[in-house]
Amino acid sequence: MSIITTLKQSKKIHQSALGHTDEVQKPKHISKKSAALIRAKRKQQIETSQLIASILKGEITSLSQAITLIESSAEKHQNQVREIIAECIQHSGNSLRIGITGVPGVGKSTFIESFGKLLTEQGKKVAVLAIDPSSSVSGGSILGDKTRMEELVNNPLAFIRPSPAGKSLGGVARKTRESIILCEAAGFDIILIETVGVGQSETAVHSMTDFFLLLKLAGAGDELQGIKRGIIEMADAILINKSDGKNKEAALKAKQEFNRALHLYPPKQSNWKPKVKLTSALENEGIEEVWKMILAYEAFTKENAYFFKNRMTQNKQWMLQSIEEQLKNNFFNDESVKKELSIQLKKAENNEISPFEAAAYLLGLK
Ligand code: GDP
Repeated sequence: MSIITTLKQSKKIHQSALGHTDEVQKPKHISKKSAALIRAKRKQQIETSQLIASILKGEITSLSQAITLIESSAEKHQNQVREIIAECIQHSGNSLRIGITGVPGVGKSTFIESFGKLLTEQGKKVAVLAIDPSSSVSGGSILGDKTRMEELVNNPLAFIRPSPAGKSLGGVARKTRESIILCEAAGFDIILIETVGVGQSETAVHSMTDFFLLLKLAGAGDELQGIKRGIIEMADAILINKSDGKNKEAALKAKQEFNRALHLYPPKQSNWKPKVKLTSALENEGIEEVWKMILAYEAFTKENAYFFKNRMTQNKQWMLQSIEEQLKNNFFNDESVKKELSIQLKKAENNEISPFEAAAYLLGLK
């Protein structure tokens, strides 16, 4: 619903709620209360439309403020977020969304710093978002905090936002997706979404990006060991980082091994052949080649229409996942479910009731 329709509707409510009828005179205190509520609602709507207007102008403080609302679980903020997204989504979709994953220490933030610098020097606006579902457990975020990417943090063309906290990956991912929309509406050309790959977080990042980068280190020869097969399948490019100094030779060998391995995988839906590149994020080597490769990918997938098809598929996935997330939240936040859940869990644990029967009972409460 557009903000204008909402304002019109609220005006209608305003009129009808305060409208007098000849027969029934409303008690004075109720009228005062509802008038105050309506005033508060209108104030919020005006604030929301001002926020939207300044996001669309690219004002970073408003963008940050709106992302803070996304991260809030208060219902009134969620309603506000829905209005903001509904407007901003019409101005979104124009960026290139790049996913970046790799274990801690591989050089993600150093890479993003170098890569971001290259892009901003070309006048591009770069947003860095993160998905780190572990941040709610550890209490602090491994990704996107202010001590990392020190140069980029102070670059006026860059915007860095740490991973939102959340109990579930689904919740964290939804918040990041909504943030992408706002960043795009604020005119960001490139959105980098980073993850350390905890749980299924690579899959989440893959499902919201156009291009997926996997950062690796050269090891002792058995490069493919310990890598989840799924990640290789998702990657559009593998960067062997820290290809400098004494590491250079091992990095070259790793590149050959990955290239050989990639031949064994079935072709990707995009028809793009994943590439292996050597980089030194620290010494700024190979970074420009990575950007050229991503541009080549963009041109290739726009030419064969995969780029657009993929975004359409992702939209469908986002919608279905939002429904799942909402249903789960509604269920677990229900008061009667909250009361009964631990009782039924205990019973199921002790074999006093079958888990299926307990689940059916709880589902029946809602
Ligand atoms: P992240 O945890 O993946 O974000 O990794 P960081 O970017 O924080 O890097 C971890 C460490 O590796 C830091 O001490 C970096 O300076 C170092 N590092 C990152 N990239 C390179 C590189 O290309 N070459 C070398 N030699 N060191 C690097």
